[in-house]
Amino acid sequence: MRLSKLIDKYNRRLNYLRVSITDHCNLRCIYCMSRDSVTKLLHKEILRYEEILRVIKTGVRLGISKVRITGGEPLVRRDICGFLSRLNAIDGLSDISLTTNGVLLLENIDKIKSAGIKRINISLDTLDRHKFKKITGHNFFQKVIEGIKRALDLDFYPIKLNVVVLNGINDNEILDFAGLTFSYPFQVRFIEYMPIGTACMSDRRHILAPEVKDRISVLGDLVPVDKGLDDGPAELFKLKGAKGEIGLIHPISRHFCATCNRLRLTASGRLMPCLLSDVYFDIKGPLRKGCSDNDLADIFLNAAYNKPSSHHLAMNNQPPVPGRMSAIGG
Ligand code: SAM
Ligand code: SF4
Repeated sequence: MRLSKLIDKYNRRLNYLRVSITDHCNLRCIYCMSRDSVTKLLHKEILRYEEILRVIKTGVRLGISKVRITGGEPLVRRDICGFLSRLNAIDGLSDISLTTNGVLLLENIDKIKSAGIKRINISLDTLDRHKFKKITGHNFFQKVIEGIKRALDLDFYPIKLNVVVLNGINDNEILDFAGLTFSYPFQVRFIEYMPIGTACMSDRRHILAPEVKDRISVLGDLVPVDKGLDDGPAELFKLKGAKGEIGLIHPISRHFCATCNRLRLTASGRLMPCLLSDVYFDIKGPLRKGCSDNDLADIFLNAAYNKPSSHHLAMNNQPPVPGRMSAIGG
């Protein structure tokens, strides 16, 4: 029998599509991209907006209701806000969000809001401008902060701050980040570093979620927060008296594969069932050869069917996962 919904072999319902719209980026975060010259996709190799929208519409027919736009850095792509408006007009999508490094947020955030986006994730690994330059290779700390302030002023909610925790680099700021939730309604999410692609760092950089939680506990009791349907894999807590929440994302110390509901569309037009596997299904080739909507749906269903039960990434001497985070979108 031909399936009509994205349900995988393990009975997971896949309703979340993460879409990388470019592999280009205006930063070079040490844990994501190599500082050496990075191979970038040519314009013609990247899916056009029309193509991405067609793929998303097919996904929606099959049960996708949640889409996150990511990259590379999505805000470096021309006319991103026009694209977001068109995305927002697709019937059947109940949740559209964006992950950005925040560098171009200030000049785009009003238009992002007008395009109908209400939720945003901003990656910020340090509250120190000098360290920001060391981690990202660029001096854009203040621009990111201005963008975040404007997002607060415009009542984006939730604003999630993504912090990749690195031992000896920013782990001394865990309490400062957690403390932000006393004054601001942010969801501060501490993410375990994953060894992916060419920008791999040594094992000694890992700090796992239980240790992060332990360190934060000096600020007060961490009260578990019930998750909403759109909260994803983060384990959520609140410090007593805080306006915001703390999230722990632990792909290494506690896999969340059993409840993974995601598929990924890369900037180059590949549908990937799992971030941490190099299995993919080409969608750009068939699209550009004029395939039908049913053919596209079959590619989705095949990708869903082939979603692995789990990944095997662990900390110790694990070979890095191939691929580039910036091309897949995190
Ligand atoms: N450029 C945007 C940004 O940085 O928010 C979107 C793309 S980025 C690949 C998406 C997310 O992946 C970011 O929050 C980033 O911190 C995270 N990320 C990148 N490389 C990572 C790694 N090796 N381990 C864990 N998270 C990573
Ligand atoms: Fe660029 Fe985001 Fe990767 Fe940093 S994490 S290099 S901002 S894609």
